[in-house]
Amino acid sequence: DKPSYKWQRVLLKVSGEALAGDQSQNIDPKITMAIAREVASVTRLGIEVAIVVGGGNIFRGSSWAGSSGLDRSSADYIGMLATVMNAIFLQATMESIGIPTRVQTAFRMSEVAEPYIRRRAVRHLEKGRVVIFAAGTGNPFFTTDTAAALRCAEINAEVVLKATNVDGVFDDDPRHNPNARLHDTLTYHEVTSKDLSVMDMTAITLCQENNIPVVVFNLNKPGNISKAIKGERVGTLIGG
Ligand code: UDP
Repeated sequence: DKPSYKWQRVLLKVSGEALAGDQSQNIDPKITMAIAREVASVTRLGIEVAIVVGGGNIFRGSSWAGSSGLDRSSADYIGMLATVMNAIFLQATMESIGIPTRVQTAFRMSEVAEPYIRRRAVRHLEKGRVVIFAAGTGNPFFTTDTAAALRCAEINAEVVLKATNVDGVFDDDPRHNPNARLHDTLTYHEVTSKDLSVMDMTAITLCQENNIPVVVFNLNKPGNISKAIKGERVGTLIGG
């Protein structure tokens, strides 16, 4: 009998910035390898892992549209393409250590990845494959956090695990205030009413409406990704 963990199927959100680490390059291969190793350790336990990758390490549509006058939709399509680059990098890293991994894109790029097909994604997960969802929601004006919430709901994953460069959600900016306190838990309402910068409003309300808990945690601490996936206490848990 398999030991039972808190979650059977999780949606791991990895932001682009987290992939960059402190490298001057867009992607730090040490980080993608660390993610791959930790994900491997939990898929071996039978926990199903789907991943949504961001693209902010390469291109963020909103900031380009603002600063250059570039049309927002065009800028966002470039941002979505950036997430595909990250997804393929992560897939190649995972497969290099023997984890079967599929990338599914929200718009067709059939020479490089499968198109997003919900039932097929679920089938991959059931077979123990990792599925990486790329190109966000496929729509401009959205974020990959919203894509994470959406895909989580669609594939009936139980939680969004948001891997970031900080330990969780603080009551003040820990980079400027050394006395900032880490919240262990928060309600959705606290996140939205206090305007805590956890996720954009669209993403957090989608989680709330579908009762999807969100765990915000630091992926730079060794062991944290596997702990979060196994349902051990890390970072900040948002729910209720
Ligand atoms: N994006 C989009 N629609 C989506 C998801 C992403 O248009 O559904 C674009 C948007 O321009 C965004 C960029 O892709 O700035 C990269 O995604 P995001 O900023 O969410 O990445 P992260 O912050 O997680 O690195």
